[in-house]
Formats: sequence, structure tokens, C-alpha cells
Amino acid sequence: MDILILAVVIALVAVGAISGLVVSSRKKKQLPPPAPPSTPTITAPPAEPQVGEDAVETAEEPRRTIEEVGLPEAEAPAAAPVVVEPEVPAAPEIEVPEPTAGRLVRLRARLARSQNSLGKGLLTLLSREHLDEDTWEEIEETLLIADVGVVPTQELVGRLRERVKVLGTRTPAELRTLLKEELLTLVGTDLDRAVKTESGEDTPGVIMVVGVNGTGKTTTTGKLARVLVADGRSVVLGAADTFRAAAADQLQTWGERVGARTVRGPEGGDPASIAYDAVKEGIAEGADVVLIDTAGRLHTKTGLMDELGKVKRVVEKHGPLDEILLVLDATTGQNGLTQARVFAEVVDITGIVLTKLDGTAKGGIVVAVQRELGVPVKLVGLGEGADDLAPFEPEAFVDALIGD
Ligand code: GDP
Repeated sequence: MDILILAVVIALVAVGAISGLVVSSRKKKQLPPPAPPSTPTITAPPAEPQVGEDAVETAEEPRRTIEEVGLPEAEAPAAAPVVVEPEVPAAPEIEVPEPTAGRLVRLRARLARSQNSLGKGLLTLLSREHLDEDTWEEIEETLLIADVGVVPTQELVGRLRERVKVLGTRTPAELRTLLKEELLTLVGTDLDRAVKTESGEDTPGVIMVVGVNGTGKTTTTGKLARVLVADGRSVVLGAADTFRAAAADQLQTWGERVGARTVRGPEGGDPASIAYDAVKEGIAEGADVVLIDTAGRLHTKTGLMDELGKVKRVVEKHGPLDEILLVLDATTGQNGLTQARVFAEVVDITGIVLTKLDGTAKGGIVVAVQRELGVPVKLVGLGEGADDLAPFEPEAFVDALIGD
């Protein structure tokens, strides 16, 4: 009888060795129960797999459980003589985003390239020997073309007229200083442009990102996660844009690059429940900030209102939202302003992110949109690169408009 048992054990070991069977302590992790399709799932950054998640598979060594090869678990040798640990591939490196201080200065050249026509155009016109009515009209036109908006344009032209009269003869340096000062006044130097990332409680700061699809909302959410990580904060992302098919994958990829967890759900799922779960996850893991990406379908105002309103209400079961950022594409001009108006009616916007400022000469939209909504531009997007999102600094912006 003993010989028979020994023979069975030897046979088992042989089968195990031949089939590359791996019996390790991680056996339980190999068959996770499938997640129910409607429940939001949480994806961990690749570098720090969590308990209950699959370890990374290797193509050469498929790990199979005893059940899969048809052997009852009880018959497995207690301590298999040959235990081959699968090679765990090195986790993808977490990127360290560049610091945010002075980013706008770094990106200034990009801003200057696109906005030069505004500042330089104004300076050239103001330098004319005779500032007649035609010239003032041209100055006005230059401002309107740059999307500064009618009322701010009239204010600026009024002030410029006055100061130029007082100045009498104008040196180029004087004109530059004068224009800089007036543009700065228009853009506003005393607005609080800090993105509020703290709740003031023992819970994470919660930021909701809204805007029409295509404006760069998901990209901005991802870039903002990098900004926060660069500043030493831990971030959880909520992929509540369940309308656009690739949005959750896109956001998750951004998150994985900097080690931020993404809470997501099925395509077309309930955005509010994902947003709720994201904040819950943020609280559970003691994260500093939760960023929630939302869908921006402008099919009807009522639809948008229902959806965003619900997301906001549900998230606020955890506590008040700390920031609602509206993402606007700077290249869309008046259209962008119309969008801004609609969103402002639906939720209380606390800050504006102007994207694609690298692709337009219409930097005046900064002024127009602030006036329209009465809230400051807090961040600007200056390219498709991962670190091309910068805190908005009026001085650096105006410097870029006028050039040195
Ligand atoms: P969403 O539908 O609003 O979430 O839009 P996405 O985040 O998918 O962005 C739409 C496109 O705009 C993408 O190709 C982005 O790379 C691009 N984009 C976003 N921000 C900027 C920016 O600041 N500058 C430029 N040039 N492109 C941007």
C-alpha cells in the first residue's frame, strides 16, 4: 500500500514537472472571482499590485492551478520538490513629473509664438507717430480679433487713450510698460488662482472636472494628477466620463504613469456611482486629492444638468466639492464662451482651465471668460505633452503677449 502511495506521489511530481505546473503560495490569486459587470472597478497602478489582484502574467510560463490540470487539490504533494517561481517582470517605472513652479515661464516661448500678434500688434500701433481715430480703431480691432471681448476692449482702449495723452511723446520702453500694466489690470492680478485641493477636514480634497467633450477634459484631468503628484500629493482618479468609450482607459493610463489609482465602471454606466466610489476609495486609502473626470455632452441643457447635477449631489454625500474646474478649448472663441455660460448655469464653476492656448492667437479669451463667469483662469494647457499644463500666472502671460 505504502509503495502504491509513493508511486502515485512520484507520478504526480513527474506530471507537475513536465507540464510546468507551478504550485506557489499565490495559487489563490490566480483565479480571482470575475467582477460583477455593473460594479465600478478600481485599478491599481502597476508598480504596486494589491492583494486580491492578479500578478503580471508571463507568456512563457502560464501559471495553472491544480484544478485546471484535473488533479484534486488534496492529492497535491504537501511540499513539492520542484517549485518554479515565475519570473515577475520589472514593474513599469513610475514617472516623476517635473515641478510645477515656473512651468509657465518654461512654456512661455510656446505661448509667445501663438500670441505674438496680439502684443506686438498693439505695440506697433501704439508706436505710430500720430494716434488718430483710425489707429485707435485698429487697436480695438486687434483686441476684438484676439477674443478679448467688447466691454473689456472698450475699457482698455479708454485707459490707453488717457495714458498716452498724459504721456505726450512716447518712447518704446514707456509704451511697453504702459501696455503691460494695462493688460495686467485687465487680466487681474488679485484673483485667487490656486486650485483648491484640500477639504480642510481629514478627507481628501475633491475636484470635479467638467467641460464639453473634445475640449481636453480627460487630458487635463490626467495632467492635473501629474501636477499634484509633482507637488507631493497622492491622487485617486474617478473615470466618470462613461459616455466616451476610450475616456476611462485614457484616464487610467495617465494615472498609471504617476502611480495614481483609477476608479472606473462599465461603458455607459452610471457616472454618479463611479464618482461616489472614487471619493469613497480616496477616503479609504487616505489620498490627498480625488479628481473626477465627467462627460460633457451638450445635447440638451436638461440632460447635462441632470447628469452633472446628480454626480455633484452624490459626491457631496461624502462632503462638499472643493473645486469645480471648467475646461474650455481656447481655439473655440465665442463658442467656448457659450459653453461656459451653459455649464455655469448647471454647476458652480470655481475655476477655468483654458486648453490649447498653444494653438491659437486668441489669448484674449482669458479676459473674456473671466468676465463672463466671474471666476479666474487657474490653469492653462500649452500642448499635448504630459507636463504641458501650467498654473496661470498673469505676469508671465502678459510678458509672453508682449515679448521682451
Ligand atoms: P475630452 O473629450 O474633453 O476628454 O478631450 P481629450 O482630453 O481627449 O483631448 C482632446 C484632444 O485635445 C487630445 O488630442 C489632446 O491631446 C488635445 N489637447 C488637450 N489639451 C491640449 C493643449 O493644451 N494643447 C494642445 N495642442 N492639445 C491639447
